[in-house]
Amino acid sequence: MYDFIIIGGGILGMSTAMQLIEAYPERRILLVEKENGPAKHQTGNNSGVIHAGVYYTPGSLKARFCLAGNRAIKAFCETHAIPFDECGKLLVATNELEMQRMQSLWERTEANGLERSWLSADELREREPNITGLGGVFVPSSGIVNYAEVAAAMGREFEIKGGEILYATPVTGLEERTDEVVVKTTSGEFVARYLVSCSGLMADRVVQMLGLPPKFTICPFRGEYYRLPPEHSRIVNHLIYPIPDPAMPFLGVHLTRMINGSVTVGPNAVLAWKREGYNKRDFSLTDSLAMLANPGIRKVLRANLRPGLVELKNSLYKKGFLDEVRRYCPSLTSNDLQPHPAGIRAQAVSNDGKLIDDFLFYNTRRTVNVCNAPSPAATSAIPIGAHIVRQIQAQVDG
Ligand SMILES: Cc1cc2nc3c(=O)[nH]c(=O)nc-3n(C[C@H](O)[C@H](O)[C@H](O)COP(=O)(O)OP(=O)(O)OC[C@H]3O[C@@H](n4cnc5c(N)ncnc54)[C@H](O)[C@@H]3O)c2cc1C
Repeated sequence: MYDFIIIGGGILGMSTAMQLIEAYPERRILLVEKENGPAKHQTGNNSGVIHAGVYYTPGSLKARFCLAGNRAIKAFCETHAIPFDECGKLLVATNELEMQRMQSLWERTEANGLERSWLSADELREREPNITGLGGVFVPSSGIVNYAEVAAAMGREFEIKGGEILYATPVTGLEERTDEVVVKTTSGEFVARYLVSCSGLMADRVVQMLGLPPKFTICPFRGEYYRLPPEHSRIVNHLIYPIPDPAMPFLGVHLTRMINGSVTVGPNAVLAWKREGYNKRDFSLTDSLAMLANPGIRKVLRANLRPGLVELKNSLYKKGFLDEVRRYCPSLTSNDLQPHPAGIRAQAVSNDGKLIDDFLFYNTRRTVNVCNAPSPAATSAIPIGAHIVRQIQAQVDG
């Protein structure tokens, strides 16, 4: 019998495990992960940005946890000798509409308590000679890191303190009883007093294993990237982002310096026909039918048809992608966009057809389940883990 079982070896499962064993050093804690190592899904296939917290609604969990997470991840990396770079982020306005939107973002960054500076077109050119725009906002606290390394280090901390990790162990069923939770896996059954699930792209399916009515569905969105050739790895000094449409803050390809020295262009956001299928042609009939049969997802697709089609066009034709980035980095050419692996975002959609914006948790008497943890959840992993531990403590004490 375990005291706690955690499902998911991404950054949220690992962060929770690490902090749970700090809170309960004498207890037996097990983490189960279906893949053969940590961070094989979102955590290992993302932009690697330590976000500052520019866009999020003031007071939301995203805004609070991102601000705290930005500092916590950097401190964790310092303690564990994981390379990171606080290279700062530059938001660039390329037309009058974006200049107006930049003003709103400026106010939001104020409300979110961020240090930042307003750059004129000349100041922008001085900082980034290869970037053109009418103006920009510079946010110095944004950075870059390899989140797979962070998650692996958290897993090691957990194991050093006596936690157990079982890889290659998919959870296939759950049963919550009055005083315990039974976790059925392909390697047999495990029983725990309490359960935490951090199962990313499978969050809705894991919650449904508890026999609860589904309150949300995961809609998987591919995030496709290109990589610039090595001779362009110094083309930018910071992370370069366009000013987003406030209705679609996650759209807009950016130039991202990666911690390994390369520069990526992306990601876009197109519907994925297989939840964990990373190749462009991957297709799962089960996943696709489930998605199309879901009224919430159908409503989201109808409401976002136009931007959805633009994203699809840019996914199919490199030129569309190139045009997006050339708006602020005009020297790039089609030959500069080289292949780079895609990631897949787990975005929760409510039954009434809304993209759930904030982080979302769903608790029962003996379980805490992460239901929506898209970007900036990697940045926010330490405060999210701490939040989960507080909820578990309330269940244990209550
Ligand atoms: C393209 C892209 C770019 C992003 N960029 C950034 C960024 O720059 N900065 C940022 O902060 N965030 C970013 N994010 C978001 C960030 O990557 C995620 O929010 C974060 O990694 C979520 O972590 P997780 O542990 O919840 O999920 P995951 O890393 O997906 O982990 C979930 C784990 O659960 C396991 N699992 C699922 N079902 C089962 C089961 N039945 N049994 C056992 N194990 C199971 C899976 O195998 C997986 O390992 C990005 C995401 C994407 C996709």
